[in-house]
Amino acid sequence: MDTLTNNIEVVKTKSSKIEEVDFDNLTFGQTFSDHMLVCDYKDGKWQAPKVVPYGPISLDPSAKIFHYGQSVFEGMKAYKDKDDNILLFRPLDNFKRLNISSKRLAIPELPEAYFMEGLKTLLKVDSAWIPKKEGSSLYIRPFVFASGEGFHASPADEYKFIISTAPSGSYFAGKIKVLIEEKYSRSADGGVGFAKAGGNYAGQFYPTQLAIDRGYQQVVWTDATTHEYIEEAGAMNVFVRINDTLLTAPVSDRILDGITRKSIIELAKSEGIPVEVRKISVTEVVEAAKNGTLKEMFGAGTAAVISPISGFGYKNEDYDIPEIEQPYADTLKKRITDIQTNKSEDPFGWRYKV
Ligand SMILES: *Cc1c(COP(=O)(O)O)cnc(C)c1O
Repeated sequence: MDTLTNNIEVVKTKSSKIEEVDFDNLTFGQTFSDHMLVCDYKDGKWQAPKVVPYGPISLDPSAKIFHYGQSVFEGMKAYKDKDDNILLFRPLDNFKRLNISSKRLAIPELPEAYFMEGLKTLLKVDSAWIPKKEGSSLYIRPFVFASGEGFHASPADEYKFIISTAPSGSYFAGKIKVLIEEKYSRSADGGVGFAKAGGNYAGQFYPTQLAIDRGYQQVVWTDATTHEYIEEAGAMNVFVRINDTLLTAPVSDRILDGITRKSIIELAKSEGIPVEVRKISVTEVVEAAKNGTLKEMFGAGTAAVISPISGFGYKNEDYDIPEIEQPYADTLKKRITDIQTNKSEDPFGWRYKV
Protein backbone atom coordinates (compact mmCIF):
# COMPACT_ATOMS: atom_id res chain seq x y z
CA MET A 1 0.00 0.00 0.00
CA ASP A 2 2.96 2.33 0.45
CA THR A 3 4.15 2.05 -3.10
CA LEU A 4 2.41 2.94 -6.30
CA THR A 5 2.40 -0.04 -8.61
CA ASN A 6 1.30 1.84 -11.70
CA ASN A 7 2.02 5.23 -13.19
CA ILE A 8 -0.48 7.82 -12.09
CA GLU A 9 -3.35 8.13 -14.55
CA VAL A 10 -3.61 11.55 -16.18
CA VAL A 11 -6.84 12.83 -17.73
CA LYS A 12 -5.99 16.05 -19.54
CA THR A 13 -8.29 19.02 -19.92
CA LYS A 14 -9.72 19.67 -23.39
CA SER A 15 -9.70 23.43 -22.88
CA SER A 16 -6.66 24.90 -21.18
CA LYS A 17 -7.25 28.26 -19.48
CA ILE A 18 -3.62 29.30 -19.60
CA GLU A 19 -4.04 31.80 -22.47
CA GLU A 20 -6.57 33.76 -20.37
CA VAL A 21 -4.14 34.32 -17.52
CA ASP A 22 -2.17 37.53 -17.10
CA PHE A 23 0.99 36.21 -15.49
CA ASP A 24 2.24 39.75 -14.82
CA ASN A 25 -0.69 40.60 -12.57
CA LEU A 26 -1.41 37.57 -10.45
CA THR A 27 -3.12 37.90 -7.12
CA PHE A 28 -2.47 35.30 -4.47
CA GLY A 29 -4.55 32.11 -4.69
CA GLN A 30 -7.22 33.34 -7.10
CA THR A 31 -6.19 31.74 -10.41
CA PHE A 32 -6.07 27.97 -10.63
CA SER A 33 -4.07 25.77 -12.96
CA ASP A 34 -5.64 23.37 -15.42
CA HIS A 35 -5.36 20.18 -13.37
CA MET A 36 -5.62 18.79 -9.88
CA LEU A 37 -4.62 15.54 -8.22
CA VAL A 38 -7.47 13.61 -6.64
CA CYS A 39 -7.18 10.53 -4.45
CA ASP A 40 -10.04 8.86 -2.59
CA TYR A 41 -9.94 6.92 0.64
CA LYS A 42 -12.58 4.21 0.77
CA ASP A 43 -12.98 0.57 1.80
CA GLY A 44 -10.26 1.18 4.37
CA LYS A 45 -7.53 2.29 1.99
CA TRP A 46 -6.26 5.05 -0.25
CA GLN A 47 -7.21 4.34 -3.87
CA ALA A 48 -5.05 5.13 -6.90
CA PRO A 49 -4.42 8.90 -7.26
CA LYS A 50 -5.36 10.53 -10.58
CA VAL A 51 -4.61 13.82 -12.28
CA VAL A 52 -7.84 15.28 -13.67
CA PRO A 53 -9.03 18.66 -15.04
CA TYR A 54 -9.42 21.26 -12.27
CA GLY A 55 -13.03 21.88 -11.38
CA PRO A 56 -15.87 21.61 -8.84
CA ILE A 57 -16.44 18.40 -6.94
CA SER A 58 -19.75 17.11 -5.71
CA LEU A 59 -20.39 16.07 -2.11
CA ASP A 60 -23.38 14.83 -0.16
CA PRO A 61 -24.79 17.49 2.20
CA SER A 62 -24.14 15.12 5.10
CA ALA A 63 -20.41 14.86 4.27
CA LYS A 64 -18.62 15.14 7.61
CA ILE A 65 -16.35 17.95 6.50
CA PHE A 66 -19.40 20.27 6.56
CA HIS A 67 -20.47 19.37 10.08
CA TYR A 68 -17.43 18.33 12.03
CA GLY A 69 -14.63 20.11 10.23
CA GLN A 70 -12.46 17.07 9.64
CA SER A 71 -9.95 18.68 7.30
CA VAL A 72 -6.25 19.44 7.10
CA PHE A 73 -4.09 21.15 4.51
CA GLU A 74 -0.61 22.17 3.50
CA GLY A 75 0.90 25.15 1.72
CA MET A 76 4.01 24.94 -0.44
CA LYS A 77 5.48 26.46 -3.58
CA ALA A 78 7.10 25.34 -6.82
CA TYR A 79 9.60 27.51 -8.69
CA LYS A 80 11.24 27.35 -12.09
CA ASP A 81 14.90 28.22 -12.40
CA LYS A 82 16.51 29.73 -15.49
CA ASP A 83 16.98 26.26 -17.04
CA ASP A 84 13.28 25.43 -16.52
CA ASN A 85 13.96 22.95 -13.75
CA ILE A 86 10.95 22.57 -11.46
CA LEU A 87 12.02 23.10 -7.86
CA LEU A 88 10.36 22.49 -4.52
CA PHE A 89 11.51 23.48 -1.04
CA ARG A 90 11.70 20.78 1.64
CA PRO A 91 8.58 18.99 0.30
CA LEU A 92 9.02 15.92 2.49
CA ASP A 93 8.54 18.14 5.51
CA ASN A 94 5.16 19.20 4.15
CA PHE A 95 4.27 15.57 3.55
CA LYS A 96 5.23 14.59 7.09
CA ARG A 97 3.38 17.52 8.60
CA LEU A 98 0.24 16.70 6.61
CA ASN A 99 0.23 13.28 8.24
CA ILE A 100 0.92 14.76 11.68
CA SER A 101 -2.11 17.01 11.17
CA SER A 102 -4.21 14.12 9.82
CA LYS A 103 -3.40 11.90 12.78
CA ARG A 104 -4.60 14.56 15.23
CA LEU A 105 -7.88 14.93 13.30
CA ALA A 106 -8.40 11.13 13.06
CA ILE A 107 -7.91 11.25 9.30
CA PRO A 108 -6.10 8.27 7.71
CA GLU A 109 -2.47 9.07 6.93
CA LEU A 110 -1.25 9.09 3.33
CA PRO A 111 1.56 6.90 2.01
CA GLU A 112 4.58 8.99 1.00
CA ALA A 113 4.55 7.84 -2.62
CA TYR A 114 0.94 8.96 -3.10
CA PHE A 115 1.85 12.46 -1.99
CA MET A 116 5.25 12.80 -3.65
CA GLU A 117 4.53 10.98 -6.91
CA GLY A 118 1.11 12.62 -7.12
CA LEU A 119 2.65 16.05 -6.63
CA LYS A 120 5.44 15.47 -9.14
CA THR A 121 3.04 14.13 -11.78
CA LEU A 122 0.74 17.13 -11.31
CA LEU A 123 3.62 19.62 -11.55
CA LYS A 124 4.91 18.06 -14.74
CA VAL A 125 1.45 18.13 -16.33
CA ASP A 126 0.96 21.79 -15.34
CA SER A 127 4.59 22.81 -15.74
CA ALA A 128 3.61 25.74 -18.01
CA TRP A 129 1.69 27.21 -15.05
CA ILE A 130 4.81 27.70 -12.92
CA PRO A 131 5.67 31.38 -13.29
CA LYS A 132 9.28 32.33 -13.94
CA LYS A 133 9.00 35.99 -13.03
CA GLU A 134 11.04 37.14 -10.03
CA GLY A 135 9.00 36.76 -6.86
CA SER A 136 6.34 34.61 -8.53
CA SER A 137 5.75 30.93 -7.93
CA LEU A 138 3.16 28.21 -8.20
CA TYR A 139 1.43 28.01 -4.84
CA ILE A 140 0.52 24.41 -4.03
CA ARG A 141 -2.38 23.48 -1.79
CA PRO A 142 -2.57 19.81 -0.77
CA PHE A 143 -5.56 19.04 1.47
CA VAL A 144 -7.46 16.12 2.93
CA PHE A 145 -11.06 16.21 4.13
CA ALA A 146 -13.88 13.93 5.24
CA SER A 147 -16.18 13.22 2.30
CA GLY A 148 -17.91 10.30 4.06
CA GLU A 149 -21.56 10.74 4.82
CA GLY A 150 -23.73 10.83 7.94
CA PHE A 151 -24.67 13.14 10.82
CA HIS A 152 -23.12 10.93 13.43
CA ALA A 153 -20.29 12.84 15.18
CA SER A 154 -17.52 10.37 14.48
CA PRO A 155 -14.67 10.13 11.99
CA ALA A 156 -15.79 9.60 8.41
CA ASP A 157 -15.11 6.37 6.54
CA GLU A 158 -14.31 8.18 3.29
CA TYR A 159 -11.89 11.01 2.56
CA LYS A 160 -10.51 12.94 -0.37
CA PHE A 161 -6.91 14.03 -0.82
CA ILE A 162 -6.62 16.78 -3.42
CA ILE A 163 -3.71 18.87 -4.61
CA SER A 164 -4.61 22.04 -6.44
CA THR A 165 -2.22 24.75 -7.55
CA ALA A 166 -2.41 28.48 -8.15
CA PRO A 167 0.18 30.60 -9.97
CA SER A 168 0.87 33.54 -7.69
CA GLY A 169 2.74 36.81 -7.85
CA SER A 170 4.88 38.25 -5.12
CA TYR A 171 2.95 38.09 -1.87
CA PHE A 172 4.59 41.15 -0.34
CA ALA A 173 1.85 43.52 0.79
CA GLY A 174 3.98 46.09 2.59
CA LYS A 175 4.80 46.17 6.27
CA ILE A 176 2.01 45.23 8.61
CA LYS A 177 0.83 46.58 11.95
CA VAL A 178 -0.22 43.94 14.41
CA LEU A 179 -2.35 43.78 17.54
CA ILE A 180 -1.06 41.69 20.44
CA GLU A 181 -4.10 39.68 21.51
CA GLU A 182 -5.24 39.93 25.13
CA LYS A 183 -8.52 38.01 25.01
CA TYR A 184 -8.91 35.50 22.17
CA SER A 185 -6.71 32.47 21.47
CA ARG A 186 -6.02 30.42 18.35
CA SER A 187 -4.89 27.32 20.20
CA ALA A 188 -4.55 25.76 23.63
CA ASP A 189 -2.54 23.03 25.33
CA GLY A 190 -3.71 19.63 24.19
CA GLY A 191 -5.56 21.19 21.27
CA VAL A 192 -4.95 21.25 17.54
CA GLY A 193 -2.84 24.40 17.17
CA PHE A 194 0.16 22.46 15.86
CA ALA A 195 -1.96 20.96 13.08
CA LYS A 196 -2.87 22.72 9.86
CA ALA A 197 -6.52 21.98 10.56
CA GLY A 198 -9.10 24.04 8.67
CA GLY A 199 -11.02 24.98 11.81
CA ASN A 200 -8.00 26.72 13.34
CA TYR A 201 -8.29 29.38 10.66
CA ALA A 202 -12.06 29.81 10.93
CA GLY A 203 -11.51 30.46 14.64
CA GLN A 204 -9.04 33.24 13.85
CA PHE A 205 -11.23 35.18 11.45
CA TYR A 206 -13.46 36.94 13.99
CA PRO A 207 -10.71 38.23 16.34
CA THR A 208 -8.66 39.20 13.27
CA GLN A 209 -11.61 41.16 11.90
CA LEU A 210 -11.88 43.00 15.23
CA ALA A 211 -8.19 43.91 14.95
CA ILE A 212 -8.66 45.06 11.34
CA ASP A 213 -11.57 47.25 12.44
CA ARG A 214 -9.16 48.91 14.88
CA GLY A 215 -6.60 49.65 12.14
CA TYR A 216 -4.28 46.63 12.41
CA GLN A 217 -3.68 44.00 9.74
CA GLN A 218 -2.97 40.95 11.87
CA VAL A 219 -3.23 39.53 15.36
CA VAL A 220 -0.22 38.33 17.32
CA TRP A 221 -1.50 35.35 19.26
CA THR A 222 -0.45 34.94 22.85
CA ASP A 223 -0.61 31.85 25.07
CA ALA A 224 -4.19 30.91 25.93
CA THR A 225 -3.59 30.61 29.68
CA THR A 226 -1.96 33.93 30.59
CA HIS A 227 -1.75 35.95 27.35
CA GLU A 228 1.72 36.91 28.56
CA TYR A 229 3.82 35.23 25.87
CA ILE A 230 3.74 35.85 22.13
CA GLU A 231 3.32 32.76 19.96
CA GLU A 232 2.38 33.38 16.32
CA ALA A 233 1.48 36.25 14.00
CA GLY A 234 -1.75 35.42 12.17
CA ALA A 235 -1.05 32.15 10.35
CA MET A 236 2.71 32.72 10.50
CA ASN A 237 5.39 32.01 13.04
CA VAL A 238 6.82 35.14 14.63
CA PHE A 239 10.34 36.41 15.14
CA VAL A 240 11.51 39.32 17.30
CA ARG A 241 14.92 40.96 17.15
CA ILE A 242 16.09 42.59 20.38
CA ASN A 243 19.46 44.29 19.94
CA ASP A 244 21.25 41.79 17.68
CA THR A 245 19.55 38.64 18.93
CA LEU A 246 16.81 36.94 16.95
CA LEU A 247 14.14 35.34 19.12
CA THR A 248 11.33 32.94 18.33
CA ALA A 249 9.05 30.85 20.52
CA PRO A 250 9.62 27.08 20.75
CA VAL A 251 7.08 24.96 18.87
CA SER A 252 4.53 23.17 21.02
CA ASP A 253 0.96 21.84 20.99
CA ARG A 254 -0.07 25.41 20.34
CA ILE A 255 2.52 26.58 17.83
CA LEU A 256 2.79 25.25 14.30
CA ASP A 257 6.18 23.83 13.34
CA GLY A 258 6.74 26.09 10.33
CA ILE A 259 9.20 25.06 7.64
CA THR A 260 10.05 28.72 7.01
CA ARG A 261 10.61 29.21 10.75
CA LYS A 262 13.03 26.33 11.08
CA SER A 263 14.85 27.31 7.87
CA ILE A 264 15.25 30.88 9.16
CA ILE A 265 16.69 29.59 12.44
CA GLU A 266 19.32 27.56 10.56
CA LEU A 267 20.11 30.32 8.07
CA ALA A 268 20.44 32.94 10.79
CA LYS A 269 22.84 30.70 12.70
CA SER A 270 24.89 30.16 9.55
CA GLU A 271 25.05 33.95 9.10
CA GLY A 272 26.46 34.26 12.64
CA ILE A 273 23.27 35.86 13.95
CA PRO A 274 22.64 34.98 17.61
CA VAL A 275 19.38 33.03 17.78
CA GLU A 276 17.40 32.12 20.89
CA VAL A 277 14.45 29.76 20.77
CA ARG A 278 12.59 30.49 23.97
CA LYS A 279 9.42 31.96 25.40
CA ILE A 280 9.08 35.66 24.58
CA SER A 281 7.04 37.70 27.02
CA VAL A 282 4.89 40.59 25.90
CA THR A 283 6.45 42.65 28.70
CA GLU A 284 9.90 42.07 27.24
CA VAL A 285 8.77 43.17 23.78
CA VAL A 286 7.00 46.27 25.14
CA GLU A 287 10.08 47.20 27.23
CA ALA A 288 12.35 46.74 24.22
CA ALA A 289 10.04 48.92 22.10
CA LYS A 290 10.17 51.61 24.80
CA ASN A 291 13.93 51.60 25.24
CA GLY A 292 14.74 51.32 21.55
CA THR A 293 16.24 47.82 21.60
CA LEU A 294 13.35 46.29 19.62
CA LYS A 295 14.92 46.37 16.15
CA GLU A 296 12.65 44.10 14.16
CA MET A 297 9.62 41.89 14.29
CA PHE A 298 8.41 39.71 11.43
CA GLY A 299 6.13 36.85 10.53
CA ALA A 300 7.47 33.77 8.73
CA GLY A 301 5.54 31.40 6.48
CA THR A 302 5.57 29.89 3.00
CA ALA A 303 3.26 32.42 1.32
CA ALA A 304 5.11 35.65 2.16
CA VAL A 305 8.35 33.99 3.34
CA ILE A 306 9.02 36.93 5.68
CA SER A 307 6.44 39.57 6.49
CA PRO A 308 7.99 42.58 8.28
CA ILE A 309 6.01 44.25 11.06
CA SER A 310 6.18 48.04 11.42
CA GLY A 311 4.57 48.33 14.84
CA PHE A 312 2.16 46.77 17.30
CA GLY A 313 -0.71 47.64 19.55
CA TYR A 314 -1.03 46.42 23.11
CA LYS A 315 -3.36 47.55 25.91
CA ASN A 316 -4.54 50.57 23.93
CA GLU A 317 -1.01 51.80 23.24
CA ASP A 318 0.72 51.76 19.88
CA TYR A 319 4.42 51.06 19.53
CA ASP A 320 6.47 51.75 16.41
CA ILE A 321 9.37 49.68 15.22
CA PRO A 322 11.52 52.23 13.35
CA GLU A 323 13.15 51.28 10.05
CA ILE A 324 16.76 50.16 10.30
CA GLU A 325 19.58 49.65 7.80
CA GLN A 326 20.06 46.08 6.59
CA PRO A 327 17.37 44.37 8.60
CA TYR A 328 17.75 40.65 9.22
CA ALA A 329 14.39 40.26 7.49
CA ASP A 330 15.89 41.35 4.14
CA THR A 331 19.07 39.29 4.46
CA LEU A 332 17.21 36.15 5.49
CA LYS A 333 14.46 36.52 2.92
CA LYS A 334 17.02 36.88 0.16
CA ARG A 335 19.00 33.87 1.33
CA ILE A 336 15.95 31.67 1.55
CA THR A 337 14.48 32.73 -1.82
CA ASP A 338 17.87 32.41 -3.54
CA ILE A 339 18.07 28.82 -2.33
CA GLN A 340 14.46 28.14 -3.35
CA THR A 341 14.93 29.49 -6.87
CA ASN A 342 18.42 28.07 -7.49
CA LYS A 343 20.16 31.43 -7.51
CA SER A 344 22.59 30.27 -4.85
CA GLU A 345 24.20 27.15 -3.47
CA ASP A 346 22.04 25.03 -1.21
CA PRO A 347 24.37 23.97 1.60
CA PHE A 348 21.46 22.51 3.59
CA GLY A 349 20.06 20.22 0.88
CA TRP A 350 16.64 21.89 1.02
CA ARG A 351 16.02 22.29 -2.68
CA TYR A 352 14.21 19.39 -4.37
CA LYS A 353 14.32 18.98 -8.12
CA VAL A 354 11.17 17.44 -9.61
C1 LIG B 1 1.34 27.23 7.78
C2 LIG B 1 1.51 27.97 9.06
C3 LIG B 1 2.74 28.52 9.44
C4 LIG B 1 3.93 28.55 8.54
O1 LIG B 1 4.39 27.30 8.17
P1 LIG B 1 5.35 27.16 6.89
O2 LIG B 1 5.69 25.73 6.87
O3 LIG B 1 6.52 28.03 7.14
O4 LIG B 1 4.56 27.64 5.73
C5 LIG B 1 2.84 29.08 10.70
N1 LIG B 1 1.79 29.14 11.54
C6 LIG B 1 0.58 28.64 11.20
C7 LIG B 1 -0.52 28.72 12.17
C8 LIG B 1 0.42 28.06 9.94
O5 LIG B 1 -0.78 27.59 9.60
